[in-house]
Amino acid sequence: AKQDGRGVLRYFETEMDARMQARRKLENELRLAIKNQEFELHFQPVLDLTSEKIVLCEALVRWNHPQLGRVAPDQFIPLSEKTGLIGPLGAWVLRRACQEAVTWGDDICVSVNVSPIQLRDRTLVQTVDNILDETGLKANRLELEITERSLMSNTDLTVGLLHQLRKLGVRISMDDFGTGYSSISYLRKFPFDKIKIDRSFVTGSDTSDDSAALVKMIASLGASLGVKTTAEGVETCAEMKSVRDAGCTEIQRYLLSRPISSDSIRELLHDRQTN
Ligand code: C2E
Ligand code: CA
Ligand code: CA
Ligand code: CA
Repeated sequence: AKQDGRGVLRYFETEMDARMQARRKLENELRLAIKNQEFELHFQPVLDLTSEKIVLCEALVRWNHPQLGRVAPDQFIPLSEKTGLIGPLGAWVLRRACQEAVTWGDDICVSVNVSPIQLRDRTLVQTVDNILDETGLKANRLELEITERSLMSNTDLTVGLLHQLRKLGVRISMDDFGTGYSSISYLRKFPFDKIKIDRSFVTGSDTSDDSAALVKMIASLGASLGVKTTAEGVETCAEMKSVRDAGCTEIQRYLLSRPISSDSIRELLHDRQTN
């Protein structure tokens, strides 16, 4: 039995070693990825439910790894947050997103996801301001998406940063709303312009009374606070009808378009404008 125990232990140690090594390898590759231009932005359109027009596109980062192929953000964003690489990566995303948005119509905004780690960095406001100057994008065409998760740990500094960002003219939206803790109190404490209802509530809102009730509650909360509400992840026409009935003002959905390359989004926006 003793022998077995050691064997098992040794097995786990090797297993762990292998996993640590794989992680370290990925970490090193991540470090080089910006320099090697392996990142790419995709964009997903958001539709205003009243005008039925595309009013915004969300920038979503992709990593084209030379061997692994496309790595999903859920896999490398957490790693880049742990290693501090989210700073340079976040700035790269912001710059690329603004560069693209200036090529679109003046009435279309761009939204960029901001990591909780970036919200702990006092230089964020300066970075955003510099990038707006550099690219010539008007501040009111930029929206920053922050998650409730990021508001839990760092309150005072974050409140200050968000106020400064809004002073620049940038809008703030609360992403994945409903998935964090004590969401309602954050709505009071933090300045923001939009609520994005997490897709876990939207999916099935046409068939589940509970989901529908929650979406409706969040939409009316948004309406009484005077902020917009976006339903994320609408996949079917029935779901679209149900979030419209609930009073959501915008939808972001696979039904309309999956995230697509910057060239494709430019074409899509151009076609929509001229048709
Ligand atoms: P998120 O901000 O909630 O982004 C929306 C995600 O939902 C995207 O996945 C998008 O492809 C997906 N989605 C959109 N419509 C639908 C739908 O109708 N059905 C379903 N099932 N999914 C839909 P993606 O691109 O894989 O991004 C995943 C997450 O990675 C994002 O979630 C965001 O938290 C993070 N992320 C992506 N890009 C960035 C970035 O540049 N910076 C930071 N900090 N995080 C990012
Ligand atoms: Ca988002
Ligand atoms: Ca400026
Ligand atoms: Ca989201």
